[in-house]
Amino acid sequence: MSSDCLFCRIVQGEIPATIVHETETTTAFRDISPQAPTHVVLVPKLHSPDAVSLVKAAPGVLDDLFRAAGEVAEAEGVTDGGYRLLFNTGADAGQTVFHAHLHLLGGRKLGALA
Ligand code: AMP
Ligand code: ZN
Repeated sequence: MSSDCLFCRIVQGEIPATIVHETETTTAFRDISPQAPTHVVLVPKLHSPDAVSLVKAAPGVLDDLFRAAGEVAEAEGVTDGGYRLLFNTGADAGQTVFHAHLHLLGGRKLGALA
């Protein structure tokens, strides 16, 4: 937990968010600036700056994030149509919040990746 980290504060309930799913190790909430009809951000409760740091610090938590993503996709009704899962990693990729997070985007045909 880092008190100056936005996503740590959402996990702790200090900043409001629309939580759609929660497990022992993960929290998922709607992106405040959705880029698709379904845009959910899945975060580990453990603070780690990006996905590669997370896999080193707590390997099993990435499994948990992807499992949770599948459950969110089912609940959002995007499993059949398909959806995109992505980790922006570092500034050149557009990462703006340095607490690892998995984006789940779906509900429309998505454009090219970059
Ligand atoms: P990234 O650009 O990959 O670091 O993704 C950060 C994401 O967090 C962006 O898509 C933002 O729209 C989203 N975001 C920022 N602040 C909040 C917030 N308070 N609640 C929910 N999503 C947020
Ligand atoms: Zn954090």
